[in-house]
This record gives sequence, structure tokens and C-alpha cells, in this order.
Amino acid sequence: GCPLVYFDNAATTQRPRQVIEAITETYEMHYGNVHRGIHRLADETTELYENARQRIAQFLNAKSHEEIVFTSGATAGINLVARAWGDAYVQEGDEILVSELEHHSNLVPWFQLAERTGAVIRYIPITDEGLLAREQLERLLSPRTKLVAITAVSNVLGTIVPLTEIIAAAHATGALVLVDAAQSVPHRKTDGQSLNADFLVFSGHKMLGPSGVGVLYGKREILESMPPFMGGGSMIREVRMDGFIPGDLPYRFEAGTPPIVPAIGMKAAIDYLERVGLERIDQYERELVKRLHQELETLDFVRILGPKPEEKSGIVSFVVERIHAHDIAQLLDHVGVAVRAGHHCAMPLHKRLGVTASVRASFYFYNLPEEIERLLEGLDRAVRLFRRRK
Ligand code: PLP
Repeated sequence: GCPLVYFDNAATTQRPRQVIEAITETYEMHYGNVHRGIHRLADETTELYENARQRIAQFLNAKSHEEIVFTSGATAGINLVARAWGDAYVQEGDEILVSELEHHSNLVPWFQLAERTGAVIRYIPITDEGLLAREQLERLLSPRTKLVAITAVSNVLGTIVPLTEIIAAAHATGALVLVDAAQSVPHRKTDGQSLNADFLVFSGHKMLGPSGVGVLYGKREILESMPPFMGGGSMIREVRMDGFIPGDLPYRFEAGTPPIVPAIGMKAAIDYLERVGLERIDQYERELVKRLHQELETLDFVRILGPKPEEKSGIVSFVVERIHAHDIAQLLDHVGVAVRAGHHCAMPLHKRLGVTASVRASFYFYNLPEEIERLLEGLDRAVRLFRRRK
């Protein structure tokens, strides 16, 4: 009964008509399987699918489209690296360095790798403000460090991580770097070559695209050195009775029918985002963050988690004194405001901050400043209701 305010963009975004139309048109007019048909529909689909890969390579300023592997999402990309690269190169006693900011998707695959290999997981700590304790980095990096797996932007605190510095320091000790860019690629310009990460992952559904598709970007020479993770059709050059020869990049990491139409939809999403402009998107969302911060800072019963707005991307998480985050989110939902409540797949981070759950408002460029007022009104109602009940 009231207009929707959608502040759950870090979980997933809404898609514009252009993306939905690209998907519908593919299914209606150009749909076959990729890389295997000799007929026209299969050719058309293959062309659209490979165009999407080219477009993503250009969007990320990758050196080549061979560095773009389609996955089902950021999580799948991290798991692919943990399995294909990790199982081949990580041994007992080697160290994987993560941070206290990580999403479970950038923790659990490394725990699993550690279980398989005897590797050790170490953490770059954060400060009480939710910033990375950079001065600890030198101490933690050593010749034993095989990989630094780190988020670009915290999905809870919005903290922007100083990647350039971390990547340079990691490379200086011989470690590779995987960047979990699920919360940054949709909102901020990403230049793969100047960033110089070895792996970078993100998801289509967090950037106006369909669910079920994501990208693993990897440096060509590193991807080439990795055995395939999943076996099946399309990832081979040749199969004999007694074995197989893997195919070339990037297909050797795309076993089976890939997320064809979602990848095509993701291209349409990128076209849309670039028309709006990523610099503008970033700037605009930071204005929204500043505004919400200013308002929440006046409420003595609210604790904002994480750093100052200047150090944040478009995410604001907070806790309300004596009211559980789920209750706040439910009451906000009654007035049409969608936020997320809980641990946001970052339980270790919540533990570090001394809370079990938080309320998260996460923005995208289609959100409006007035919508922040709606959130604040809803919050006020919720707090008054709870105080009356006590
Ligand atoms: N990493 C971060 C920082 C995230 O915020 C998310 C999703 O919330 C993921 C990884 C996992 O993304 P997906 O579920 O699309 O694989």
C-alpha cells in the first residue's frame, strides 16, 4: 500500500527494462546452445555470448577476452580459484591471508582449501572504525604467503579497501592476490590492468544483471597455469578412451552449458551502467551515504558501524539500542522500506564488532534522497513502538 524504497542493493539489484528486453529477445529470437551448433540459431547465440565476454573484457580493461571466465557468480569464481589454483599450488604450511572484513564467500572456500592441504589462514585485522589495519600488513606477509584474498568493498561496512597498496605489498613478497569485487565493480570504475590483481570476481545480479552469472577475471598466464576445475563438455580440446586434453582459455573453465542468456543480460546491464557513468554512480551514492550518516548521527540510540562516509562506498549498517535488527527490518518493511538485517554473510566481522546482527541500508543510483527520509520515519516509528511496549 505504499511506494517501495529498495535499500537492499548489496544483496541484489533491480534490473532495468533494457536488461529484461535483452533477455527476452534472446530467448524469443536467438536461442540455441553455444559453441556446438552448425545452425543459425546456435551461431547467433554464440555470437551474442562471445560479444558479452568481449564487452566485459573492455569494461574491465582486461588485456584479452581470454581472461574473462563466465561463472555463476562471485562465490563460484572464488571456489574455482580455490580448487583449480589452490589445489595445484598450495601446500601444507603455506598461508592464505584474508581480512576481518570478508564475506563468507571469501572465507569458506579458503577454509576448505586449508582442510584439504594443511594451509594456514591468517587475518589482516581491522580497526574499531572498520578500516583495514594497514600497518599490520608488512608483519603478516611473508614468503609463506601464497595468496591474499581480499574484498574491495566491505558488504557490511562499505569500507573501501586500499587495494593498490595491498596488491603491491603482496606482489613484493611473491604472493598472488584475489580481489572479491562483488561490491565494487557495480559501483566504481575498475581497471583490471592498472589494479594488477591476479584474480578478480563479481556477480551480474548486483549490477542490474540477471542472477546466475558472474565473472572470474584472471591474468592470462596464471589461468593458463591452472588445471581445469570442473570437467565436462566444452572444456576440452580432445577426449580419448583413456583421458582428455583441456581446451584453451577461457573455455577450459566453462564446463557444460554456461549461463548463456544471463551473460547476454549482463552485457546489457554494463551498457546501461556505462551510459549512466560509474564515476557519477559512485559520487551520487556517496552523497546518499553522507546524508544518511548525518541523520543517524543525531540519534543517540543508533550506533553506525564502520568508518566515516568519506571512507565508504554506498552501504550503511547500524544497530539500534535494545531492538533486534530483524525487528527493525520487519517494521521498516511494513512501511515499504526494504533493508537487510542479520549478519549479512559476515559472521566473523560482526563478532569482531561485538554485535550479532545489524541493519543494512545499501544504495544504488536509482535511490533518491527523499527515500532516506522514509527510512528515518520508519525507524522513528519502530523505536516509538518498542518503547511503548516496554
Ligand atoms: N562477496 C561479497 C563482498 C558479497 O557482498 C557477496 C554477496 O553478497 C558475495 C561475495 C557473493 O556473491 P554471490 O552470492 O553473487 O556469489
